[in-house]
Amino acid sequence: MYELNKKISNLEPYKAIDGDYKIRLDANESCFNLDETMLQEVSKVVSKVAFNRYPDWSAKEPIKAFANLYSLNENLITAGNGSDELISIIESCFLETNDTIVTLSNDFSMYAFYSSLYEVNVEVFQKEKDLTINVDKLIQFCLDKNAKALIFSNPCNPTSLGLDKVEVRKILKSLPNCLVILDEAYMDFWKNQSMLEEIQNYDNCIILKTCSKALGLASIRMGFAIASEKITNALKSVKSPYNTDSVSQAIVTTVLSDKFYVDIHTNQIIENLIEFKNDILKLQEKYPNVLEEVYPSVTNFVFIKTPYDEIIFNKMFEHSIAIRRFKGYLRISTGTKYENAEVLNVLEEIISKL
Ligand SMILES: *Cc1c(COP(=O)(O)O)cnc(C)c1O
Repeated sequence: MYELNKKISNLEPYKAIDGDYKIRLDANESCFNLDETMLQEVSKVVSKVAFNRYPDWSAKEPIKAFANLYSLNENLITAGNGSDELISIIESCFLETNDTIVTLSNDFSMYAFYSSLYEVNVEVFQKEKDLTINVDKLIQFCLDKNAKALIFSNPCNPTSLGLDKVEVRKILKSLPNCLVILDEAYMDFWKNQSMLEEIQNYDNCIILKTCSKALGLASIRMGFAIASEKITNALKSVKSPYNTDSVSQAIVTTVLSDKFYVDIHTNQIIENLIEFKNDILKLQEKYPNVLEEVYPSVTNFVFIKTPYDEIIFNKMFEHSIAIRRFKGYLRISTGTKYENAEVLNVLEEIISKL
């Protein structure tokens, strides 16, 4: 009889929430679909795709559009099937069996998951009680563990907190022999703190970006890795040749080429988040024992510490509102103004009855 090996025999498929919700604020997606004009543009380019042909293996056009949008050198960019694929490729190829990678807690769960699949040793660094990162302690931890790689999200999903450039530079400079993977999935929501424009200064760094959040394209699965030419060449050599498809490439190229559209879209999300967060803070003043802490978000979601996570999560579900629950915490992405108003109403109704 065929037996699955130990590392996969007890795994379950990743279960994102599915089903029909009136309001979906569980996955930090953009709350806006493409507008009418952009939808027409996208339909036009999709109708011109050569469906019988393999896609461009190097994703030249989307990389060019991405490079223009962020003022980067095209030669330092690799496209992936979502940044998830890039995380998987990096952790499997840049590390050898039993090498050590350092992840942080709390942080994005996929980092440790892929490492365990690739038989890489994971050492978890604990953040402070207030969920901030003590950078000196982190650096010492990586040195003590002889880490070959360090990966974390900045700003962080789920804590919504950011580590500023001064701190990130210190990490990069203090760990010259360690590959530092900076996942900047949410950096579009935090102005002037990205390390993208400094990537040329570091030969031990990979920055990950995604089209799934501020760019509003979670459906088509595309992310980018930005790194030195040496690392980029290695990434392009190990990825599967046709990892991003022609339809996604055409759509990403179209949307990212419109800087005006991207800026308006991002700023609208930021505006909604600020309003939403302020309203949650007002609710916290009324119910400080329920909403123990609302973290100062530099992302498109709010992270809340509450002992009532389970009951609030379940009641929101009954109202057909999907949010994300962690033990002792709730994470709610910003929606449209209409959705946020509805969420706040329901949240107050639930909390007032606790
Ligand atoms: C959402 C998210 C991503 C995006 O992954 P894709 O595969 O590009 O959709 C990556 N990292 C973090 C921390 C995220 O929250």
